[in-house]
Amino acid sequence: LFFFFFKEIKGLSQNSRKKGPSLNYQEVKMVILVTGASRGIGREIARSQALNGNIVIANYNKSEEQAKYLQKENKNIDIYKADVSKREEVKAMVQYAIKKYEKIDVLINNAGIAENKLFTEVTDEEWQKIINNNLYSAFCVTQEVLPNMIHNKKGCIINISSVWGMVGASCETIYSITKAGIDGMTKSLAKELGPSNIRVNSIAPGIIDTDMNKNIDLEDVDNIRKEIPLERIGNTLDVSRCVDWLLKDQYTTGQVISINGGWVIT
Ligand code: NAP
Repeated sequence: LFFFFFKEIKGLSQNSRKKGPSLNYQEVKMVILVTGASRGIGREIARSQALNGNIVIANYNKSEEQAKYLQKENKNIDIYKADVSKREEVKAMVQYAIKKYEKIDVLINNAGIAENKLFTEVTDEEWQKIINNNLYSAFCVTQEVLPNMIHNKKGCIINISSVWGMVGASCETIYSITKAGIDGMTKSLAKELGPSNIRVNSIAPGIIDTDMNKNIDLEDVDNIRKEIPLERIGNTLDVSRCVDWLLKDQYTTGQVISINGGWVIT
């Protein structure tokens, strides 16, 4: 629908503090697992963090070609196929990452699917599919990654939720439920994991130019744009810049940070 091309992504300085056991990957700043990194927001986060000198395990499920292209683009990106709504596949992915890189410093729970249906017409199967892909996946990946982070007494988890989890969306009730659930998980885990030096935050984007919105017609997109104080639709780089900031920060936890151009102000 939209075409934004970003030719240059500026590398940002990272926290160089070294902690924990000695690693084979000494030159690596952080080991970062990004779910749903083959397209859209996840892909941009993976690319930016790899350009920053981090090792990125970029998870994908169906979009193998895009994932392979991403890997070809950057030597710091290691792609891994797993359906994150399935426990066994998640377990295998996390075991692979820890065996190869010895640790996971950062988890970005980004994978998700959208919905567009009247609440009264949503079937049990559709409910289950959205819950599994958007919410169970975050629960499952986080549970599998946490023992390593807790052992290292160090970690950062960023959950990609949505403005719809904050204010609700007509015809996207199940999606909104999953995103509100993600934010609840963020706040609770921040309290539970703070003493283990693990920070947990949500990024709640507004409307971002990705495949997820490709079915919205141009007129509707323009009407949304007019409601946004910054007068533009967001792009994937807007979200990945917030990830950069959260990774440098050391004292933010349990927060829902909404990147939405002022569209939703609470
Ligand atoms: P997108 O362009 O449709 O990309 C979705 C990504 O999620 C793809 O890489 C897809 O991988 C992956 N994915 C979905 N289900 C998966 C599964 N079961 N296992 C592994 N990967 C899976 O969407 P996006 O706009 O980048 O959205 C990314 C996140 O941001 C989502 O959580 C979404 O809810 C949230 N968000 C988006 C917007 C927006 O306006 N775009 C706004 C607020 C929040 P494959 O193609 O390889 O299967």
